Amino acid sequence: MSATANSDLLTITLAEGARRLRAGEITAQELTRAFLDRIAATDDQVRAFVTVTEESALAAAEQADEILSSGDATAPLTGLPIGLKDVLMTRGVRTTAGSRMLDTLIPPYDATVVGRLRQAGAISLGKLNMDEFAMGSSTEHSAWFPTANPWDLDRVPGGSSGGSAAAVAAQQCIATLGSDTGGSIRQPASFCGVVGLKPTYGRVSRYGLIAFASSLDQIGPFTRTVEDAALLLQEIAGPDPLDSTCYDAPVPDFSAELDRGLDGLRVAAPVEFFTGGMDDDVAAVIETALDLLSANGAMVDRSPSMPSVPMALPVYYILAPSECSANLARFDGVKYGHGARQGESMWADMEATRKHGFGREVKRRILLGAYALSAGYYDAYYLKAQKVRTLIRREFDRVFADHDVIVAPTAPTVAFKQGAITDPYQMYLNDIFTIPANIAGLPAISIPGGFGADGMPVGLQFVGQRLDESVLLGVANAYEKLTGWNTTPPSIVGST
Ligand code: GLN
Repeated sequence: MSATANSDLLTITLAEGARRLRAGEITAQELTRAFLDRIAATDDQVRAFVTVTEESALAAAEQADEILSSGDATAPLTGLPIGLKDVLMTRGVRTTAGSRMLDTLIPPYDATVVGRLRQAGAISLGKLNMDEFAMGSSTEHSAWFPTANPWDLDRVPGGSSGGSAAAVAAQQCIATLGSDTGGSIRQPASFCGVVGLKPTYGRVSRYGLIAFASSLDQIGPFTRTVEDAALLLQEIAGPDPLDSTCYDAPVPDFSAELDRGLDGLRVAAPVEFFTGGMDDDVAAVIETALDLLSANGAMVDRSPSMPSVPMALPVYYILAPSECSANLARFDGVKYGHGARQGESMWADMEATRKHGFGREVKRRILLGAYALSAGYYDAYYLKAQKVRTLIRREFDRVFADHDVIVAPTAPTVAFKQGAITDPYQMYLNDIFTIPANIAGLPAISIPGGFGADGMPVGLQFVGQRLDESVLLGVANAYEKLTGWNTTPPSIVGST
């Protein structure tokens, strides 16, 4: 295949890929090969993948081509190569959650979303790097290696789903799945110049997602376009008897509002999302974006105030560690992955397992959480945080009583250099604008908004009403169509 044909395949979207596969213009094997070759050419620099499943991907592609050529390809994603964050259980494929604790885990079952994508015909190319147990904002906390930002290899891709974002930006996959507890889909999407969607809490089953903070975790897509985000969400969303927190509501057509435009759209830009530590280059991009929205028919209202929103970050750093200290108690070296055998006592084995198996950041979170939940401190920390969570939820409800969406920056800065942030608190501040949506359980999307310092991408965030992903996607799509920035591929080393 010629270099042009090859690079043409690499910038394909799910929508376009599906069309061309069905029209017989390309085959699933060509497409899969092109992406596997791209991974081979670039991943020693990007390091997005923990595991590449070449053999099973090629076998699946062969099967997809048989189905496609027989003309009965009813599954919407038939033959389209995707990647999965390594926090999602994959039957027969090593799943580490970026942790030494799970260095040998080969799950006997698939996460619900993985099964659904398979049913939908998608082909997994492998498992993507992440901060250990999804705790972090730079993918530097992976136990394996850091992932680089394809726009500038000296910078981080964001985190915790850094591998999922970098793989799409580096054209190693058409789309990927990540998870977002406090911003782990949207912040890396912002840093890598791709689309990242966190659905409403409960929209997508968490069964088979290795749990970090169960009241906040949600799985969602990374894509090149908003249209593709809608297509992928369509396949993974919906009730699941294996996750009781999953909404029982029927799944709407997420593409229904894609062409709604911005006319008459009531956009809130609450003051608290526009203060607090945004870099000037990011602020400039966001201001231009607001002007563009207004100039194209949206009514941007800068008057709403959400006084509890600045509390979202401290609330999160009580609730998420508390939930993680409970969730990670299961890693005792007996049932899963790494298990140290000292032979002296069960306690000695457990201590050795956890000491070696967990990295520093994970230990910090477990300690924070155990402290916040301990007798005597529970009321002062955990209970109080839950009360503030309710206040934050109500403030969102109040704004949504007379607005359709909220607009905000995704992250306060562009991607920073690897190794630049060593202070944990500084790292936590990356999520200052993304965490509120998790606290309130609302859907939120980051799309390429423009470019900041050194030509690095800046994400624009929209937050929607509960279960209102269709409108959220419609607004995001309208902005994308105005700018077209999603189509700009990064000039990374190893480009074909
Ligand atoms: N960066 C945040 C944290 O470290 C959010 C992570 C996430 O969303 N999984 O907790």
